[in-house]
Amino acid sequence: MHSYNLKLMNNIKHVFFDLDNTLWDFRKNSEVTLKEMYKTKKVHEEYNVEFGDFHEKYYHKNEELWANFRDNLITKEQLRERRFKEAFEAVGINNVSLAEEFEKNYLDEVTHHHHLVEGAEDVLIYLENKGYSIHVLSNGFEEVTLRKVNKSNLKPYIKTITSAEEIQSKKPDSRIFYYTLEKANAKKEESILIGDDWIADILGAKNINLDAIFYNALQENFDFGDVVVIDKLRELKTIL
Ligand SMILES: [Mg+2]
Repeated sequence: MHSYNLKLMNNIKHVFFDLDNTLWDFRKNSEVTLKEMYKTKKVHEEYNVEFGDFHEKYYHKNEELWANFRDNLITKEQLRERRFKEAFEAVGINNVSLAEEFEKNYLDEVTHHHHLVEGAEDVLIYLENKGYSIHVLSNGFEEVTLRKVNKSNLKPYIKTITSAEEIQSKKPDSRIFYYTLEKANAKKEESILIGDDWIADILGAKNINLDAIFYNALQENFDFGDVVVIDKLRELKTIL
């Protein structure tokens, strides 16, 4: 863990969490969902491609497209049109209707799984007991974001939920940060944001001088500057 300014954390009343892969284990829920769909649709039998090979391609394709979406290079519709089609193509499966079926069912199916990031509940209980107001700020689609929070064990702890779709602005845009602070009735100086996307979450927050903690879920290594970095969510208990 890197050094941090304890005095700075003293006046914090509101804790904003990014959702996907910060609290809600998107990677795990997604893999479990896709594995089931792959089996139901008999993809392996039909094309003799192992799920693991497909999933590796899908994972990287999806990450790449979400980064493009965040950077306003593609729209949500383009993301949804391309991710499965291109992942299947990458393993030699050229079947547009199969890709469309996956896309159509995926978002419904994925919110039937509720794995949370390791330590998430533990930390939320801790923060609530210490009197912090806890909020969610996600770049996800509105309806999906609400389902992820409300159908998982996150629900009792979360005071407000903001999704990018609500105001057509997404992290790292300043607008969504100001919007979520207002929605939470929170002062910037009394707030902190925790997220796993260096650009969207951390640079976005820093841009408006909102304190932020980088959850380095993938143990990446680059110059974090003066930003507080944690490898495990439970480390928050020593900071907040
Ligand atoms: Mg995230």
